[in-house]
Amino acid sequence: MIRLDIYGAHTRLGSSLCAECPHGPAGCCVSPPPVDWSDIGRMVALGGRDFVLERIRAGHLVPSDRGLRIRRVKRRESSSEPMRNQCVFFGRGGCTISPDQRPATCNYYLCEDAYTEGGAGRGTPEALFAREAHELLRDHYTRWDDALTALIRSNHPEGPTWDAAFLDWLGQTFVELVEASGRAFERLSTAGKT
Ligand code: SF4
Ligand code: SF4
Repeated sequence: MIRLDIYGAHTRLGSSLCAECPHGPAGCCVSPPPVDWSDIGRMVALGGRDFVLERIRAGHLVPSDRGLRIRRVKRRESSSEPMRNQCVFFGRGGCTISPDQRPATCNYYLCEDAYTEGGAGRGTPEALFAREAHELLRDHYTRWDDALTALIRSNHPEGPTWDAAFLDWLGQTFVELVEASGRAFERLSTAGKT
């Protein structure tokens, strides 16, 4: 079964299959997505500036060419399993950080197995709407990321400063980009957050 929590640009998709992921207990979290500029802007816009700074200091988020990457750590999922790399934020009960603090991909990505289990092949409305939301979010985050990348290259030719002022600018610019996307998000709008 597929579940949608509609919050505009912060919409979340979930699948009952994830609890029994065919790829293992950590599912997608063995390979966390990059935290792109648009993701960092999103996190800051939702009040996460200090979280980002703290996690950079802790080495959980590592600056990269595209923004940040999430550190992976080796853990054993049960006493009989080998050690495997997984996202530093993955714990025994699943993700340990709030949806507002994750890359947007963590919130809207579902694999093909999840769409199949959710009835995409049978035309189940939730599955079809989820796929539409997935594509809309992926396309817009890519577009916003391209816009932020160009601005950062031009404003910070020697690289970003990774301080509060830089992050505040990123958060504000992300909000402006989302607002400029206007009607594209009508299908995903409720009392949205941004
Ligand atoms: S989206 Fe697919 S691969 Fe990821 S946790 Fe769910 S079932 Fe597993
Ligand atoms: S941030 Fe959370 S949801 Fe995303 S990969 Fe890490 S543990 Fe998984």
